[in-house]
Amino acid sequence: MKRKIIIGNWKMNPNTGKVASKWFQEAARLVSRSKKTEIVICPPFIYLDNLSRIRTSKIKLGAQDTFAENPPAGGGPFTGEVSSEMLYNLGVGYVILGHSERRAFGENNQIVNKKIKGALSAGLRPIVCVGEEERDESHKYFDIVKKQVKECLAGISRDSFHKIILAYEPIWSISTTKARRDAVPDDSREMAVFIRKTLSDITTPAIANKVRILYGGSVNERDAEGFLRDGRVDGVLVGQASLSVEKFIEIVRICEALKN
Ligand code: PEP
Repeated sequence: MKRKIIIGNWKMNPNTGKVASKWFQEAARLVSRSKKTEIVICPPFIYLDNLSRIRTSKIKLGAQDTFAENPPAGGGPFTGEVSSEMLYNLGVGYVILGHSERRAFGENNQIVNKKIKGALSAGLRPIVCVGEEERDESHKYFDIVKKQVKECLAGISRDSFHKIILAYEPIWSISTTKARRDAVPDDSREMAVFIRKTLSDITTPAIANKVRILYGGSVNERDAEGFLRDGRVDGVLVGQASLSVEKFIEIVRICEALKN
C-alpha cells in the first residue's frame, strides 16, 4: 500500500513572507498528530528558505519549478534560474514539473523530461503534471495524456520510477480555467487506470505500481473524500484551496480518516 500524499501548490501566492510563515506555522501545529499522510507544500521559491527553518517533521517542502540542467560546477551563467541542487541543499524534497500554467509559457514534454532528469539526479522527487485541455467525444484526450507520460518519462531509469509522482490535472477543471467544469471521481479513476497501464507498458506492471498517481483540479474540502476514496489515486494536488490553512488541513484530516 502506497502512502497517500496531499500536496499544496500555492502558485504565485501569498504576497508576503509573513503570511506564508504564519500559514506554515499554523499548519505545522494542526498536523502534528497526523500519522499516515505525507504532506507537501510548494510555495514560491522566495519563501522556501524561511519555511525550511520552521520546525516540523510532518510537512515537507516542494518547489514549483527548477532549471533543466545540472551544471557540473553546481552553478553557472543562467540568469533568473534556480537549480535542483540549490533546492536540495535548502532541504526541498519535491518539485512540480510540467504544470499546465508553465506549459502555457511554452514548456513542452522535452523540457519537462530534462527537468525530471535533473531533479532526480539532484535528489528531488518530481511531481509531474499531465492533463488534457478538453475532453472530446472521440476520446483523443487519452492519446494526449499517453504522449505526455511517455515523452516526459523517456529515458528515465527504471530504478527511479518509484520516486516519481504523476499528477493528473485536466486543465478544464483547474480553478483558474475560464468556464471550468468540475471533474468527478469517475474522471480521475478512468485516467488513473489509463496512466497506470501506460506506465506499465513503458516499464513493467511492478514498476508502474510503485508510481504514485494523484488527481488535481479544484480539489477542495468538500470533494476531496470522493477523489481519495473512489478516484483510484494515491493523493491529491490542491491549488486554490491550499491557500486557506483551514481548508487544506481539512483535506489532510479527510485523508487521515480514510480506511485503506
Ligand atoms: C493546480 O493548478 O495545480 C491546481 C491543483 O489548481 P486548483 O486546485 O486551484 O484547480
